[in-house]
Amino acid sequence: MHDDRDLVEARLKRVLDERIRPAIYPESVPLEVAVWHAPGEPVPVAEGLAAEPGPIAVGQAWGVPWGTSWFTVTGTVPMEWSGRIVEAILDLGFDENMPGFQCEGLVYRPDGTPVKGLNPRNQWVRVGSPAEGGERVRLHVEAASNPVILDYHPFRPTRMGDKETAGTDPLYRLARMDLAVFDQTVWELVMDLEVLGELMLELPVDGARRWELLRALERALDAVDLQDVGGTAAAARAELTGVLSSPAVPSAHRISAVGHAHIDSAWLWPLRETVRKVARTTSNMTALLEDEPDFVFAMSQAQQWAWVKEHRPEVWAKVTKAVAAGRFVPAGGMWVESDTNMPGSEAMARQFVHGKRFFIDEFGVDNEEVWLPDTFGFAAGLPQIIKAAGAKRLLTQKISWSQTNRFPHHTFLWEGIDGTRIFTHFPPVDTYNCSMQGRELAHAARNFKDKGVARHSLAPTGWGDGGGGTTREMVAKAARVRDLEGSPKVAWETPAEFFAKAEAEYPHPPVWVGELYLELHRGTLTSQAKTKQGNRRSEALLREAELWSATAAVRAGMDYPYERLDRIWKTVLLHQFHDILPGSSIAWVHREARRTYELVAEELNAIIGDAQSALAGQTTGLCFNGSPHARLGVPAGGAASARVRPATCTEREGGGYVLEGPLLRAEIDARGLVVSLRDLETGREAVAPGRAANLLQLHPDFPNKWDAWDVDAFYRNTVTDLTEADRVAGDGGRVEVRRSFGSSTVTQWITLDEGRLDIETEVDWHETEKILKLAFPLDVRADRYASESQYGHVFRPTHTNTSWEAAKFEACNHRFVHVEEPGWGAALVTDSTYGHDVTRDVDGTGTTTTLRASLLRAPRFPDPETDQGVHRFRHGLVPNASIGDAVREGYFVNQPVRAGSGAAEVVEPLVAVDDDAVVVSAVKLADDRSGDVIVRCYESRGGRARATLRAGFSVAEVVTTDLLERPTGEPQRPGDGIPVTLRPFELVTLRMKRA
Ligand SMILES: [Zn+2]
Repeated sequence: MHDDRDLVEARLKRVLDERIRPAIYPESVPLEVAVWHAPGEPVPVAEGLAAEPGPIAVGQAWGVPWGTSWFTVTGTVPMEWSGRIVEAILDLGFDENMPGFQCEGLVYRPDGTPVKGLNPRNQWVRVGSPAEGGERVRLHVEAASNPVILDYHPFRPTRMGDKETAGTDPLYRLARMDLAVFDQTVWELVMDLEVLGELMLELPVDGARRWELLRALERALDAVDLQDVGGTAAAARAELTGVLSSPAVPSAHRISAVGHAHIDSAWLWPLRETVRKVARTTSNMTALLEDEPDFVFAMSQAQQWAWVKEHRPEVWAKVTKAVAAGRFVPAGGMWVESDTNMPGSEAMARQFVHGKRFFIDEFGVDNEEVWLPDTFGFAAGLPQIIKAAGAKRLLTQKISWSQTNRFPHHTFLWEGIDGTRIFTHFPPVDTYNCSMQGRELAHAARNFKDKGVARHSLAPTGWGDGGGGTTREMVAKAARVRDLEGSPKVAWETPAEFFAKAEAEYPHPPVWVGELYLELHRGTLTSQAKTKQGNRRSEALLREAELWSATAAVRAGMDYPYERLDRIWKTVLLHQFHDILPGSSIAWVHREARRTYELVAEELNAIIGDAQSALAGQTTGLCFNGSPHARLGVPAGGAASARVRPATCTEREGGGYVLEGPLLRAEIDARGLVVSLRDLETGREAVAPGRAANLLQLHPDFPNKWDAWDVDAFYRNTVTDLTEADRVAGDGGRVEVRRSFGSSTVTQWITLDEGRLDIETEVDWHETEKILKLAFPLDVRADRYASESQYGHVFRPTHTNTSWEAAKFEACNHRFVHVEEPGWGAALVTDSTYGHDVTRDVDGTGTTTTLRASLLRAPRFPDPETDQGVHRFRHGLVPNASIGDAVREGYFVNQPVRAGSGAAEVVEPLVAVDDDAVVVSAVKLADDRSGDVIVRCYESRGGRARATLRAGFSVAEVVTTDLLERPTGEPQRPGDGIPVTLRPFELVTLRMKRA
């Protein structure tokens, strides 16, 4: 037989595009349209509905950037349409090639009931089915004219990312506002043709099934009269029933489709717009659930649920009804889909506490799945936190974005730093926006790495970010591939149903140990420095606010600020969302974040001040130590007068200055560089021979794409050492260094703080597409280095033997990185930076190791002014440091001793531990307001610890709990202290009932 495959395939495409799809709506009449443009920010629904609209016509422009327009559409169903299905088609001026990221609408009835969202690929509203001729139609559309930021030419700098710079030119043109007849049979024919046509293209050309599909499709096209598609669609469909009813082969891959819309909690739009995006999408999904009995929808991020509850009660009523029916499913159990590299130990834990508690309180749902499809890599501390929150499974697809190495599994056990293993699935469909296309399903089946031992994968299905979620077309396609020869078998299922099957079929999955490092988006550890500092400061202040408030509540009967702490925690957790803390949002988001963090700091400082006054009265002289280690004679978690031993500053021979304290001696040369740092106990030099520490280095930083997200490896090919100083001056106990470069200036203050060389760096940053690093070449030979992560640290190699190691050229630390030889090590601690790199050099004197902190970047997309302006950082170099010293000094730079007030001479700690390896990470009162004291601690060095925890109050009973403070053991009556035995990095939460 002659091979006419190309001809038939091309015929299918043209006939579908130009004749059959247009016949879905064979008749239409225009609606009358009027509009009211809200003058500023969005208004309440009632106000929008009540406003008096003015004239507008199809074809006219509307929509200032970030504006809101309330359209009113009215019309009458023609008498001759009686008995047919009638829909309104409301095209706000959508670009259908971009499902989301542009204008959107939410349709209301005149009484304020939400109907559904309007999105680029979801523009219909059912008005009669069957219609009554003569029926009056009146609908209102709350339309948001959000600008397109990520365009066809992506990553071009734009001023559209902030209302303050976006201008007022209208962005959209009203395209179509009609009532139309919907031909269900033609629509079903389109679904048949798309499913079979897409499947056909995925099948081997030498297989019979491909040709059976081709011939059936050809017969169906022959059966369509192109001048009467509606009249012949049923006959065309009849030609396809044979191939559509042929079942899947027994070994076919199984896909659990989960209806989903990945809605970034802020990104290319501000937080306030996400509130509305969620309302639109959830309205779509509750409507779709009513129409489609098999469909299941899952929504993550408790914060987004809380927004619907607070801001759109009419939508919330529909959502809660669908949840009760088990079809609108809370997914995961976090407050937001946060970054997991940068959030500190407690913040990462609280993501689960607040997320899970919301779902438990609202719906009685306690999920065991963690849903993070889009997060930029996963810290090795996370498995333990997931388990301690009462969950045991993780889903993400993001590691498929890695540029260098292919991850070897799709289903596996992920082992964290403490040995906790979490059943993990990476959907092989490699997207969180599956749309049920044949090529996506075939890719999932082909790509699945665990074939032969497992058969199930998950596909999050639906348009996110303003795309409106799952569409009726996706549901129709899924129905056709439920059991279809040549295709994977698809069924709508909840995440829990998927995981139950995946676990059952795969009892011994392979194990991946350590972090799930994303080989991409490494710049997100540095971009938007103030957002990152805001997070770090807020975490430290929250720790102190809880500690001092709990201490004051127990000791002085102060009211514990439950509501305020709950609210502030949720604010800080929201800002850890995977486009806010990583610095990849528009200018508007980061401008608001800076202000929010200022307010958070103000309120937390007030809470801390109140608690300290309640504890110690009002006169001065007392220092409060909020860190978990004793400092300057002040006990951890207590207050006393501090014993400070100042350093001296003298002139250095050959220029520069010498700083000398009781533990360290530092030489700063005439260039303002640290050319020597000796710890006086061992006499060992920390700085690599012939090199200098505190070296600022400037690199060009223009990645191939994803500007705010990526730093590409070639940035290192070019470097400028900033060694020219404008001024180097010794003053009291410190040395001040000033430099200028490009359009920027930098001032540094170098001091000695007990066992630490402290460098405070103030940069007035006005560079473009550059990255600024602060380098510390150390005379240490180290094959690996430690970076602090949640409740412990992770090791990474200093070499680049394999592509896996080479790809980790920029990585995340919390408060420290640490390198050591047997018996001697050094740590670099930081109060605000996360990005860093560690490299090794070999010269005549041996191997040395260079630690570099990443201070600032200057990408121009999506915020064209990223990081411009004044920044302040504190870094500390700790010579002769063990891991334990690194942990302690890391806390100290983030949690400095607070000079407070106090008539009391000392404030005893509320809890004390007798082993420094055991770090108390939180002291607070129980969230259930019982007055119980909660203490969480962890083993911080990677070893075993046996410690005794002593409470500074009378304890009636103590019990271990999970992160949600639910008991996990039997209550004990403590004797003289509470024994705590911990395995490496193990965390434990104790709940103490006060006597
Ligand atoms: Zn995302």
